[in-house]
Amino acid sequence: MNTHNSISLFEKACELIPGGVNSPVRAFKSVGLKPHFIKSGKGCRIVDEDGNEFIDYVCSWGPLILGHCHPEVLDSLARVMRDGTSFGAPTKREIEMAEIICSMIPSIEMVRLVSSGTEATMSAIRLARGFTGRDMIIKFSGCYHGHSDSLLARAGSGAATFSIPDSLGVPSCVVEQTLVAPYNDLDATREKFELCPDRIAAIIVEPVAGNMGVVPPSPGFLQGLRKLCDEYASVLIFDEVMTGFRVSKGGAQELYGITPDLTCLGKVIGGGLPVAAFGGSRKIMECLAPVGGVYQAGTLSGNPLAVAAGLATLKTLMRDDPYHDLEQKSARLENGIRNILDKNKIKNKINRVGSMMSVFFHPGPIENYDQVLSSDKQKFNRFFASMLEQGIYLAPSAFEAWFISTAHSIDDIDLTIKCAQDSLDEYV
Ligand SMILES: *Cc1c(COP(=O)(O)O)cnc(C)c1O
Repeated sequence: MNTHNSISLFEKACELIPGGVNSPVRAFKSVGLKPHFIKSGKGCRIVDEDGNEFIDYVCSWGPLILGHCHPEVLDSLARVMRDGTSFGAPTKREIEMAEIICSMIPSIEMVRLVSSGTEATMSAIRLARGFTGRDMIIKFSGCYHGHSDSLLARAGSGAATFSIPDSLGVPSCVVEQTLVAPYNDLDATREKFELCPDRIAAIIVEPVAGNMGVVPPSPGFLQGLRKLCDEYASVLIFDEVMTGFRVSKGGAQELYGITPDLTCLGKVIGGGLPVAAFGGSRKIMECLAPVGGVYQAGTLSGNPLAVAAGLATLKTLMRDDPYHDLEQKSARLENGIRNILDKNKIKNKINRVGSMMSVFFHPGPIENYDQVLSSDKQKFNRFFASMLEQGIYLAPSAFEAWFISTAHSIDDIDLTIKCAQDSLDEYV
């Protein structure tokens, strides 16, 4: 594959932008390769600056559930753009967006729009702290909630109770307020509460973990979190930035039948433009300024273009209800790849919830971050490189989700399975 243009663009980018990228995972470092610079996308396909075409399973890391350049999203953008790109004043479309979000996710009575998932989770945490008058929060190792200080924490060594920062520049006094438990471990979570019963403002959790690869909640896990939060008067925050409008119309909370106090949304709700949101019960949400004392703001929050793209996406999803179809296509991909791996006697565990899935080179089960980390990264990297060479663009890390969009056809799925077959014959 000719990658001449991408390579020279990357060299130039590295002179001007740290690591050549505006978000670290794009750099392909984890798979030991150089990134392709993408020129365009249409449907489920993207084309790089050397003219190579790929079937895209990154889909902008989740937002593009309708694929690239969906006509209704583009039309809406073109129409709205002519009236102006930003006002910093309320607009009618923001109400429409709020109505749709509240109607599709019943636990959300009021919602506020922001511009990134990071802002949504950061603001939800501040709100939970303001509402409860408490400082500490619980998160789970392997769950990603954006890059704000208090959420960049993992459990240190297994026994550590108080966390160490995951990044330089994060004050330890901030991260000390963040307790980290293993995903799917209710007992460990309960122990945190028992340790500081009156100090925990909130639990924040990805109801289906998607940022350590896909790890579904074990039966009873989310129910148990709900009960703990009720028992200790803490706020349960579902970070549905990835799962919202992805795993079902009403998100993971609909799929598993659990009602959180606050929900964070992002990715799909912007249809490829920067929109995110957080919302929940009126009682909690009215603690936000200008009604209440918890401050939160944004110059471009509810931006007309971003909201237009989001609205077009959500309306299309409501009208077409593609979730059954997405499930079937995704199951076909899962089964096809598992058959090939099994036939080749390669130990594998495929985790999938709806149209997000991950292939782990590991015998399974994969229920928490430690198990994720013990999967065979080298094998994944060889598989990744070979798939890329054949025109299949997977997320460039063993610990990420693949996303299937409504634009992927059965033929695209079958071609992907065939490429996986060829990859394994040659490389793994
Ligand atoms: C992507 C993601 C975020 C961060 O969103 P950004 O828009 O990248 O800031 C937060 N939480 C989850 C679960 C995500 O998947």
